Amino acid sequence: MRYRHPWLNLLFSPHPRWVYNTAVMLLALLFSLLASLATSLYQVHNEIKHDVNYLDQIVSVAIKYGLEKPTLSEASRVSGECSTDTIEQLEKLYVSHLLMSIPIVNLDKQNPYTYCSPFGVEQFEQRNFKNLLNTQLKGEMWRLAIVSLSTAPKHPPYLYGSNGQYGFLFPLRTEYLFLENDLDHQRSIRLSLPKENYTILEIGSMPESDRLYSNSVASNYLPLTFESFVSTSRVLSKFKQNLWPVTTSLFMISLTILWLWVSYWHAKKEIALQKAVREAQFFPYYQPIVDAQTGKMLGVEALLRWRPSDGRVIAPSKFIHYLEQSGDIISTTENLITTIYHDLSSLMNQNDEFYCSVNITPLHLQNDDFYYYLKRFQHDYSKLTLELTERQPIENLALASQRIALLKTLGLKISLDDAGTGYGGNSYLHYFDIDTIKIDKMFTRSIDEGRSAVLDGYIEMAKQLELNLVAEGVENKLEAKGLLLRGVFQHQGYYYAKPMSIEDLHRWALDYGYTQELVSEGSG
Ligand code: C2E
Ligand code: CA
Ligand code: CA
Repeated sequence: MRYRHPWLNLLFSPHPRWVYNTAVMLLALLFSLLASLATSLYQVHNEIKHDVNYLDQIVSVAIKYGLEKPTLSEASRVSGECSTDTIEQLEKLYVSHLLMSIPIVNLDKQNPYTYCSPFGVEQFEQRNFKNLLNTQLKGEMWRLAIVSLSTAPKHPPYLYGSNGQYGFLFPLRTEYLFLENDLDHQRSIRLSLPKENYTILEIGSMPESDRLYSNSVASNYLPLTFESFVSTSRVLSKFKQNLWPVTTSLFMISLTILWLWVSYWHAKKEIALQKAVREAQFFPYYQPIVDAQTGKMLGVEALLRWRPSDGRVIAPSKFIHYLEQSGDIISTTENLITTIYHDLSSLMNQNDEFYCSVNITPLHLQNDDFYYYLKRFQHDYSKLTLELTERQPIENLALASQRIALLKTLGLKISLDDAGTGYGGNSYLHYFDIDTIKIDKMFTRSIDEGRSAVLDGYIEMAKQLELNLVAEGVENKLEAKGLLLRGVFQHQGYYYAKPMSIEDLHRWALDYGYTQELVSEGSG
C-alpha cells in the first residue's frame, strides 16, 4: 500500500536493521520518560489527596471528640468570674483533653461576650463567629462555629464547639507534620466554607499562578471543603527523583518488550515471505508504457505483487527488501519472466514491437546464473527489457558490465531505472551498455514545479548518447505536454494507466490501448 503522505511511506517501508534498532531505542526512551512523568503525576496526585484526607481527619476527630465529651460541667459550676480557681480547673481540662483543645466558660450574655479560658479572660464578638452547624447532643443544643481571636488577629482561626455557656476552642494550625516545611511553596491546602466561599485556613505559601493541579474533598462530617494544590515544580522534582530508578528500569523493560516485538514482527514477516516464495505467491501487475503522440501502447512494465493466502494484494515496498536480503529475488524474477511470456504472448504476437520491462537488482549481476537460467528458454528476448535500478550500489562495475554484455547476447535490452536518484552518478551510463534511460518520477514532477534543469540535462545527455527515453510517473496533462515539448514520447504513469492485473490489461488494451486521447491534441 502506498500512502499519500511521504512520511507515512517512509515510516512503513522496509529499512536497514539499524533504523529499526534506533527507532526501538528512541521509542523505548520516549515511553519510559512519559511513563515516569505519569508516575510522578500519580505520586503528587496521591500526595495532595493524602494532604486533604489528613486535614479532614484531624478536624473531624477534634470536633467529634470535643462534642462527645462535654466534660465542662464541673467548670460551669464556677460561673460569674474568671477566678484563679476557675482558671486552674480549666487548665486541668486543657491538659487532659486529648487534642489540647482550649476549654472556655461564658461569663456574661452581651456582645462582646466575655469568656474565661485557661489563659485568662477572652472576648469574642458575635460577628467573629461563622456558624457551621447546630446539633442536639445528650439533650443539649451544641453549635459549631469558626472563630478568630480578636486579641490575636493574625493567629490561625479556631473551630469553636459550644453549648451556650461553655465550649471548646479547637486550634487550627498553619503547620502540620504531614505537610513538610520544605514543600511549603510546592503544595498547599485550603480549608473553606463552600457556601459562603469563605477561606478559613490556608496552609502553604504557593502562589496561585504556580498551581498545576488541585484535589478537593467535601467533609462527610461538617459543611467544610478541603482543597489541596500542587505546583509544576513539585511534579518536576518528583520526576527528577524518579529519573534514575523508575525511568531506567522502565527503559530497560520497554526496550526488551519493543525489541522482542520488532524481532517477532520481522520473524513473522520473514516466515510469511518464505512461505510466499515456496508457494509462488508472487505475480505481476502490468503498467502500460504508451507513445504519447499516438496513444498507442508500446509495452508494459511488469511490477511484482504479493498475494498472501488471505487474498490481499501487497505492493513491493513491503517485501522486495526481504527478497533481496534472502536472495530469493533471483528465483522470483526468473518465475516472473516465465509468467510474463505466458501472460503477454497474445499482445506480443499482435504487435512485433511490443515489449515488457522487468526490474532487476545488482544481485542479478553477481554471477552468471541468471544468464544461464534465461538461456535455457527459447523466449524471444528482443521483447524483454531489464530495468536496472540506480538505487542500489554495484560493487564491481567492471564485472557487472561483463554480465550485462553477456545478458545482451540473448537479445534483450537494458534500461537504467531511477536514473539520477541513486548511487550511479552516471557511472552506470559510462560503464554499461545501456539502451534506455528511465526518467524518474522525481524529474517528471519537476515540470509541474517549474524547475526542470536536471530533467533537461538528462534529455540532452540521452540525445548525445543516442539512448531511448521513457518518462515514468506521468500523472497529469501538464507533465505529459511538458515531456512531449521536450521530445520525450514514451510515457508511463497514472495519467495513462495504473499497474493492473493481466485480465485488466487485456481489457484496457481493447478499450483504450489504441484510442487514448492524444496529449498533443487540443489545448491545456
Ligand atoms: P519502479 O521500478 O520505479 O516502478 C515504478 C513504480 O512507480 C511502481 O510502483 C508504480 O506503481 C509506480 N507508479 C507508476 N506510475 C506512477 C505515477 O504516475 N505516479 C506515482 N507516484 N507512481 C507511479 P510499485 O509497483 O509499487 O513498485 C515499486 C518498486 O518496487 C519499483 O519501482 C521497483 O523498484 C520495485 N519492483 C517492482 N517489481 C519488482 C521486481 O519484480 N523486481 C525488483 N527487483 N523490484 C521490483
Ligand atoms: Ca522500474
Ligand atoms: Ca523507477
